[in-house]
Amino acid sequence: MEKDILVQFKNVSKTYDGDGLAVRNLDLDIRKGEFLTLLGPSGSGKTTTLMMLAGFETPSDGSIWLSGKRIDTLPPHRRGIGVVFQQYALFPHMTVAENIAYPLLCRKMPKHEIREKVRGALELVQLADFANRKPNQLSGGQQQRVALSRALVFEPSIVLMDEPLGALDRKLRETLQIEIRRIHRELKVTIVYVTHDQNEALTMSDRIAVYRNGEISQIDTPDAIYGNPRDAYVATFVGESNLLPGMIEGVGDGGALRVALDAGTGAEALAADGAALEKGMRIVASVRPENAKACASLDDLPSTHPIGFGCLEGVVADLMFLGEQYRMSVSLSNGQIFIVKLSIGESSRFVIGQSIVVYWDKTDLKVLEAVA
Ligand code: ADP
Ligand code: MG
Repeated sequence: MEKDILVQFKNVSKTYDGDGLAVRNLDLDIRKGEFLTLLGPSGSGKTTTLMMLAGFETPSDGSIWLSGKRIDTLPPHRRGIGVVFQQYALFPHMTVAENIAYPLLCRKMPKHEIREKVRGALELVQLADFANRKPNQLSGGQQQRVALSRALVFEPSIVLMDEPLGALDRKLRETLQIEIRRIHRELKVTIVYVTHDQNEALTMSDRIAVYRNGEISQIDTPDAIYGNPRDAYVATFVGESNLLPGMIEGVGDGGALRVALDAGTGAEALAADGAALEKGMRIVASVRPENAKACASLDDLPSTHPIGFGCLEGVVADLMFLGEQYRMSVSLSNGQIFIVKLSIGESSRFVIGQSIVVYWDKTDLKVLEAVA
C-alpha cells in the first residue's frame, strides 16, 4: 500500500434489498490529509459509502481498510472516525460542553484532560462563549459548529461529513464552508465530504469523486473534473455544458480531431483526457457556455475563424441577467438550445428573436465518449 493512502475501499458493493446495488464494485483510495468530496445526485450512493466507512452499514461484498487494517467488521466506535450529519444530532438535554465532551467520556479520558480538550475544541469553532447553552438555545449554524467540534475533539484521523450545511441558508453555508476549509488546513485532518452541490464541491475539495448510480464516474482535482470531464455525464453534472452529438471524421496528432456535428457543422476539436476515440465513432462534443461566443452573422465572425466551420446558426430565445453576466439561450436550427455566457457589455448587441451565429475556438470543443 502506498504510504500516503489512509483508506481503501476494495471492490465494495452494497445492497439493501438483495436486489439493486446502492454501491457497485467500489475501488476508492482516500489519501492522508486530503479533502475528498463525494458529489452526485440524490440516490447515487454517497451516503451509503460514508456509512460503510463509519461502520453504520456493512458492505455486502468487498473490504474496507484504514491505515492498512481491515475495519469493515469493526463496530463504529472502534474505528476512530468522526462523523457530522446534516441533522445536527446533538444530545438535546446536554450543554454544548457536555455534547463535545461525550466522545472523550466514552474513551474514558481523565476529567482535567477533557476540560482542556473541550476548551480547545470550542475555540476551534469560535463557540468559547456558548459552552453552557443547550442546543435549542443555538442557531442552526451554531449547532452545526458544535457537531463539527464534537466530531473533531477526539482527534480522529478522518472526519466524515454528510451534507453538513444542507439545512443552512446560503450566506451561512458560505461562512461555514470557509470555516471547514480553515479547520482542515489547521488540523491537517482527512475529510470526506458529501454534497450534491457542485459549487460546494468545486470550491472546497482537493479531489472530487463524481458519483453516478452507485459508481464513481470520475475522481480527480476540481480543475481536472471541470476542465477535462471524462464523459457527458460529468460534463453536465459539474458545471454547465453544451453537448453536441456527432461523429469523428478524422484523428490527428496530440488529440486533435475533426468531427461532424449533427447540428450541422464540421469542427476541429480536442479529445478529452483518456477518451478512446477512433474515426467513425459516435461521440459527444462539449463546449462550456463561458467559452462559447456569438456574433450577428457569418460575415461578423473574426477573420481568424473559418466560415462554416466550428459555428452554428440560431435564434436568440432568451437573455437572462445573472448579476455579473448574461446567460443567452440560442435555439439552433435542429431545435437544440445552446447556452452562451456574455459579459454585460456584449449582451447589449443581442435581442430576443434575432438570428445569430454561435462559435468557439477549436481548443474549447472537447470530444467525450458518448454515454449510454
Ligand atoms: P445518496 O446519499 O447519494 O443520496 P444513498 O447512499 O442514500 O444515496 O442511496 C443509494 C441507494 O440506496 C438509493 O437507491 C437509496 O434508495 C438506497 N438506500 C439508501 N439507504 C437505504 C436503506 N436504509 N434501505 C434501503 N435502501 C436504501
Ligand atoms: Mg445522502
